[in-house]
Amino acid sequence: MLFSSISGIKKKKIVLLPHNNPDGDALGSSLALLFYFRKLKHDVYLISPTEYSEYFQWLPGIKDILVFSEKTKSLIKKKIVNSDYVFFIDFNNLSRIKNIKEFFLYSKAKKILIDHHPFPFFFDFMFSDSTVAATSILVFRFISDMNNLSKIDKEIATCLYVGLMTDTGFFRFPSVTSETHFIAGKLIEKGIDIENIYDHLQYSYNEYRLKLLSQALKKLKVIKKYRTAYTSINASDTKLYSYKKGDTEGIINYGLGIKNIVLSVFFFEEKKKYPIKISFRSKGDFDVNMFARKHFGGGGHKNAAGGILEKSLYESIEYFLNIIPSYHKNLSI
Ligand code: 5GP
Ligand code: MN
Repeated sequence: MLFSSISGIKKKKIVLLPHNNPDGDALGSSLALLFYFRKLKHDVYLISPTEYSEYFQWLPGIKDILVFSEKTKSLIKKKIVNSDYVFFIDFNNLSRIKNIKEFFLYSKAKKILIDHHPFPFFFDFMFSDSTVAATSILVFRFISDMNNLSKIDKEIATCLYVGLMTDTGFFRFPSVTSETHFIAGKLIEKGIDIENIYDHLQYSYNEYRLKLLSQALKKLKVIKKYRTAYTSINASDTKLYSYKKGDTEGIINYGLGIKNIVLSVFFFEEKKKYPIKISFRSKGDFDVNMFARKHFGGGGHKNAAGGILEKSLYESIEYFLNIIPSYHKNLSI
């Protein structure tokens, strides 16, 4: 029913919605769908609930994103209220579109989920599979199910490849399967420039970003007993090193690189007294999605999750250190 309705015969009003602070997968998936639905001649808008990182400035189509602000607020509300379909991309928890959640109260749009996070709640149409490495895989399947793989051009392929690369840690996480590589292969056939994509994602830092990383590495603490490593960046670090959105990306992986560490945690205070953003990464069976849901009002995947605390940085770390011993069964050897 959905496919026949959006197969392009009749023009539809479509809104594409990635999550707050959209990452490479959320942006790549949404931009790919933006180009795709344009090809089907629909009236389509891509709305981001918050600003995206400058590191994604080079992505094809990124300038067309309508970013939420006081200025764009009423236009965004109008687009959502009047749309036929809204696609929720790479998230399934409404807390992740904080600025625009309320607009759905007035909208009769059919709601479609394309997402790979566990425990989705109900949408009108669901393309949900928590076993796949990236939402970009589900977007590829979606286009394939509509028998439209021939519509994937170099731009769409580049966007999807960015989603695959970023959510698989450059094709190395346990979520990577033969399907991931099969799809990557199909995207390569569309003429994408892998070296160029890699350069944009991995080699476009300025010196401050590396110094911010060095600051986090200096503060790294290891709790051997619980096979845990954690570190933080505070508001004076972000000021000193001219922090830009995206600069802390990847810091958390270093803790997990230490032999025998199975849990890595990163606390981030962007501005003084700002709520603290916490990231979790694990190896093997320790389920950080459940951990983040239970104690940090967040969630994510089994091995990568995040949450937020309305506490100071110091209190947040103390809170975490008090919880950890109750997981000794899972964390101690
Ligand atoms: P990151 O640590 O890179 O911010 O997030 C890792 C993963 O955790 C994301 O892909 C997302 O699935 C999830 N995540 C991060 N922050 C939150 C949050 O505040 N709430 C929920 N539900 N999930 C989050
Ligand atoms: Mn994702």
